Amino acid sequence: MNVRTDMAESIFNLKKELCEIGRNIWLRGYCAGNEGNHSVRIGEDRVLCTPTGISKGFLTPEMIVTVDMEGNQIDTHNKYKRTSEILVHLAIYKKRPDVKAVIHSHPPHATAFCIADMPLPEGIHPEAEVFLGRVATAKYATPSKQDLPDSILPLIGPETNTVLMGNHGSVSFSTSLVDTYYKLEILDAYCKLLILAKQVGRVNVLNPAQMSELLEVKANFGIKDDRLACAADGCVGALQNDEFLATFGDVRPSGAMAGSGGGEVSEAEFEAMVQTITDQIMAAAG
Ligand SMILES: [Zn+2]
Repeated sequence: MNVRTDMAESIFNLKKELCEIGRNIWLRGYCAGNEGNHSVRIGEDRVLCTPTGISKGFLTPEMIVTVDMEGNQIDTHNKYKRTSEILVHLAIYKKRPDVKAVIHSHPPHATAFCIADMPLPEGIHPEAEVFLGRVATAKYATPSKQDLPDSILPLIGPETNTVLMGNHGSVSFSTSLVDTYYKLEILDAYCKLLILAKQVGRVNVLNPAQMSELLEVKANFGIKDDRLACAADGCVGALQNDEFLATFGDVRPSGAMAGSGGGEVSEAEFEAMVQTITDQIMAAAG
């Protein structure tokens, strides 16, 4: 087999992979109707991306479109047209040469945080800390306009792999399509847990010592995280946890917020709780 045939085969395999990932995205309910788009970088000036107006659940390889880094469609014979959100993908590829795949989606649990305009809390679930790290939320921007990549790009550092889009959804990116898809899954699973914890009624935030130890484990996996340098001093959650934790009202035993071992109730809080319960019993007894 010559080099040209080899390359054609590997591109065809990538197109099939884009279809398979699309089917998973659709089956898991991350994209309804024709929502969402994903792409993979195949060369310095070439990107394969999903077409506009097609459900991610029913993609076939011939529907996959090839564009250059300016968003021009290369396979002009293709009756399918590139996604209208290609600008977001290309902006990320340009900013981060290490990124090989991008998925934009509307995972419902994560998108609930976007539409609530609530920063995603951190320091709560080990998997999310190791595989996502800090996830920032961009201000709302109109889809398919340059405003959208402009709103996201300033939030992308060398370690970022996921950004939430105000009132809209998520964008995940990594060194392979499969790994990018895992970021999306982990994001929505984490947000689902947070929403369930809200139903259960409280959340325990990992304390600085626990976070520091976890980020050391992450470093040992070879995944960089800036927060390792300051986790022991309580930087994790300091910027973005207050709004979510405030929704729990007074029943919030939080390690980071209380600055103690986490989950412990002070004597004063305990006294107040006893008083409240006593008052309720007395009121019920008439
Ligand atoms: Zn979208």
